[in-house]
Amino acid sequence: MAPLSRKHIWQTFIQESTRVIAANQDCNLTLSESLPIDAVTRAAFNLLGQQGVISASQGHACSECTHPFRSTNDSDTMDVGQGFVTMHVVDGIVMGPTHCAYENCENELLNARGGSFCALHEQEYGNKCRIIGCNQNRVPLTMACQQHQHEWQKHIQNRSPGALAGVHRMLQRPGENLPWLPNPIQHGQHPHDGPPLADRTVKNYFSPNRFYCVETICAQCGTVIGWAKFARSESPTNIVAFLNSIYSSGVPRPAYICIDKACIVLRHIQASEHLQDWFNTSRFLVDSYHYTSHKATDELCRTWCNPAPTDGSAPNLVIPAKDKFGNDCFQRAFNTQACEQLNSWLGGFESILKRMTAANFDWFLHSMLFYHSLFVLKKQGIKKRRAENREVNEESEDDNGVEFGED
Ligand SMILES: [Zn+2]
Ligand SMILES: [Zn+2]
Ligand SMILES: [Zn+2]
Ligand SMILES: [Zn+2]
Repeated sequence: MAPLSRKHIWQTFIQESTRVIAANQDCNLTLSESLPIDAVTRAAFNLLGQQGVISASQGHACSECTHPFRSTNDSDTMDVGQGFVTMHVVDGIVMGPTHCAYENCENELLNARGGSFCALHEQEYGNKCRIIGCNQNRVPLTMACQQHQHEWQKHIQNRSPGALAGVHRMLQRPGENLPWLPNPIQHGQHPHDGPPLADRTVKNYFSPNRFYCVETICAQCGTVIGWAKFARSESPTNIVAFLNSIYSSGVPRPAYICIDKACIVLRHIQASEHLQDWFNTSRFLVDSYHYTSHKATDELCRTWCNPAPTDGSAPNLVIPAKDKFGNDCFQRAFNTQACEQLNSWLGGFESILKRMTAANFDWFLHSMLFYHSLFVLKKQGIKKRRAENREVNEESEDDNGVEFGED
């Protein structure tokens, strides 16, 4: 008997995940039986990926992520006007698959092993030198013309096993900076919540581009609402386009959207007339961890983005409570770190995700977020059944002292 290889495991995972997700959506996926497995993942994501909306969480609400609306007498505060209040948390994680190197093209690579263009641009460039602006033909077996061979050789050297070994070492010891090394690794080290990266000045198309980050939206209980890849940055334009795409697919907009860049997103919405319907439905809050580092002098941020105002203006965010000494205090109504917790779990898959082609990346990530949401819902179901059993047991004891259940 032949041993079980990685290929078999991958094949089984794809078969199983497409069946589970298609069944959840009550949908049939019919594919030609001779399709290579890469084409299966691409077709599965196109048909069942729902633009990143996780169908397992559709219509979900639980006592952890949805609270009854508590009104305030303060007429200045925005009335979110709903019987129930939900908070969704948005966060990014720096990782993504490769895509076409051509300016503003996010298409999948034609050849994931060594190519740098999508099918369209591979054809458009054909035999041309891959130095931007050069119209010469390239020397066979290289990507540059005679005049640009020096640049090509430098590129090859930077990608040699020796140079890569140094890159790996540097990743393990980030303090150590070896001046002779190329710097493509900086990409992975940039925190997604830092200042936006300066535009890379690209001089050649020798290597493909990489998506900058994956953005996720989750409910406070951990069920995942949706996800997307951002090509260049976690800009407010990208964030609002992502929100519009997820919340126009039938997922109702939550009363509160929590994101580390809430004030920047809010400014962007304020400046764009066509986006202002967001003011009718939702408020944007900074999560409690990042809020402490936002400027105290930022009037808009302090007024609208405080995740836990203690002046009584937001009874849906903070609940009056007593501390252990019996003194009055406030308790946060929502856990604003839910998405960071999700993303640190997701980060565990980074080393396998970064080697995947764009099609495999999309389907694998989508499936894992789907399974994760199913797992959260299953755990909630077990908890609920246990609580109901306890109640039944207690009631029956109260009624006539007869116990039933366990035996
Ligand atoms: Zn929930
Ligand atoms: Zn392209
Ligand atoms: Zn050239
Ligand atoms: Zn702010």
